[in-house]
Amino acid sequence: MTTALTAQHPVVVVGGGIGGVAMALALGRQGHRVQLLEQADQIGAIGYGVQMGPNVMPMLDFLGVGQAAREAAYLPKEIMLYDYLTGQTLSHIPLQTPEFAQRYQSQPYIAIHRVDMHELLLKACQPHANISLNQSTTVTGYSQTEDGVTLETAQGPCIQAAAVVACDGLRSRLRAQMHPSDVPRESGYVAHRSLIPMSQAPAHVQQRQSVTMWAGPGLHVIYYPLRNASLLNIVLVVRLPQHVSSTQDDGYPAYLADLLSQAQPEPQQVARLVNLDRRWAIADREPMRGWHDGRVCLLGDAAHATLQSLAQGAGMAIEDVVCLSQLMSTHGPDVAAAFKAFERARFLRTARVQWVSRHMWEDYHCGGVQAQVRSDIFSQRDVDDHYRCLDWLWTPQAMVA
Ligand SMILES: Cc1cc2nc3c(=O)[nH]c(=O)nc-3n(C[C@H](O)[C@H](O)[C@H](O)COP(=O)(O)OP(=O)(O)OC[C@H]3O[C@@H](n4cnc5c(N)ncnc54)[C@H](O)[C@@H]3O)c2cc1C
Repeated sequence: MTTALTAQHPVVVVGGGIGGVAMALALGRQGHRVQLLEQADQIGAIGYGVQMGPNVMPMLDFLGVGQAAREAAYLPKEIMLYDYLTGQTLSHIPLQTPEFAQRYQSQPYIAIHRVDMHELLLKACQPHANISLNQSTTVTGYSQTEDGVTLETAQGPCIQAAAVVACDGLRSRLRAQMHPSDVPRESGYVAHRSLIPMSQAPAHVQQRQSVTMWAGPGLHVIYYPLRNASLLNIVLVVRLPQHVSSTQDDGYPAYLADLLSQAQPEPQQVARLVNLDRRWAIADREPMRGWHDGRVCLLGDAAHATLQSLAQGAGMAIEDVVCLSQLMSTHGPDVAAAFKAFERARFLRTARVQWVSRHMWEDYHCGGVQAQVRSDIFSQRDVDDHYRCLDWLWTPQAMVA
């Protein structure tokens, strides 16, 4: 099969999450005709925060939105991890010291409102007449010939593409077509997210300028300021026990109250501010090669969904975008060669994020002797050790793929 990119049809990006909008922008800036298809009736983010390590900002600079992201972001001073049962500090990672700046090329660690991130990416797309953004379009499958790809949609019309980048997330339909037996790995945990005015947070939480996390058996709670510290973003993650099949069960509030009653006062207070009505089932994917099929390629969570322990799912999607768009430029019309090179370039790094995140998830939520051993190991680490553990991830990647 030949896989030349033709000018006749656009490159289609499926999914208008952070990965999809960033991909449309990157391709549009390179002069490709791009059509983005999003199933929701509005391309936009759910309104919570996202953290991004110093590896991500140079990628945003490459996309021309780095300055806008810096302006919209909150810059936490440190990451604090505590044991919610004992109150012991497990790790303290400063984010604004000269050592941090020297190590990570003076790039900041940021926390940003997802709506702001989406808006600045969408705004950057606006001047490019070659980018078209389509909403209310659910892609249900694809077929391809030597000349291009046909996308089927739930709404009826088929859409022709020269190539397809599938950024359709953790539960990607296009991945399911490529790998029918591969399904998300459900973690058994659910996340509740809330954004509250900072003025409603406990006084001592208002003083914090950190990403603060409390972890232990069955749950963790993480919070950090957003938008000039006018808001507090809170994520409460809870393991569903066997006798409670969903957060809608009558037994859930009592179960959660019992878990929280064992926690230190601060995580209890913050967790109680969270709205339990909305929840997200937490899942990831097995690291697996095979991200492309001819002219169709997976990107972001569709390719390598991870648990959020390292707070890098969106960061990896943005790194993917820079890498893939550069490779599509290098390989010119041979889109299959670009897709192959993309997987080669990105597989091990993203697989490492997936594996390390699972390992950390275990560290966060263990109890008993395992937790004592974990705490003992953590107590022997100094700041430099933490940086060394994160260097592989946080050091900005070379731009030229
Ligand atoms: C609680 C929580 C906290 C997190 N915190 C962080 C963090 O701090 N830092 C970080 O980097 N990452 C974090 N992540 C991970 C991050 O949110 C994801 O990795 C990231 O959003 C993936 O982006 P994406 O564009 O690949 O997919 P998504 O954001 O899932 O976007 C997929 C898009 O595709 C659309 N879509 C799906 N199917 C179709 C279809 N068939 N047709 C058309 N459109 C479709 C969806 O509507 C959606 O808009 C967190 C995740 C969770 C759950």
